[in-house]
Amino acid sequence: MSDLTDLYQSVILDHNKRPRNRGKPPVANRVATGDNPSCGDNCTVYLHLDGDDRVDAIGFEGSGCAISQASTSLMTTLVKGKTAAEAEALFDEFKTIVTTGNAPEEISDLAAFAGVHAFPARIKCATLGWHAALEAMKQPPSA
Ligand code: ZN
Repeated sequence: MSDLTDLYQSVILDHNKRPRNRGKPPVANRVATGDNPSCGDNCTVYLHLDGDDRVDAIGFEGSGCAISQASTSLMTTLVKGKTAAEAEALFDEFKTIVTTGNAPEEISDLAAFAGVHAFPARIKCATLGWHAALEAMKQPPSA
């Protein structure tokens, strides 16, 4: 079990140290920002939805604690290639994990955040980027 904890910690550390999809993709046509004043986290998520409502490009900017940055980085890797509806379903799964600590049996990067449930104040950190991404998908397309 402690091996699993180590593995999960390394997922968070890795995403925090080497964030994926950092920066604004050139083709982005939707944007939304998220803000978590209680911790000092903020993020801006840029994405592009293709004609089938599928995220074909996504990136983020922002700063904050390791949990918020790692979770936003992981989110971008998981949401890319998904439709808005699929992204929402994934977020529901993630929300369950971080609020209850109950992760699915199979090892997944999402489950790396299960430990967050023991620190209710950090749940907002973990969900910040997800909220921003889902908000961005609901925005009208911009040029
Ligand atoms: Zn935070």
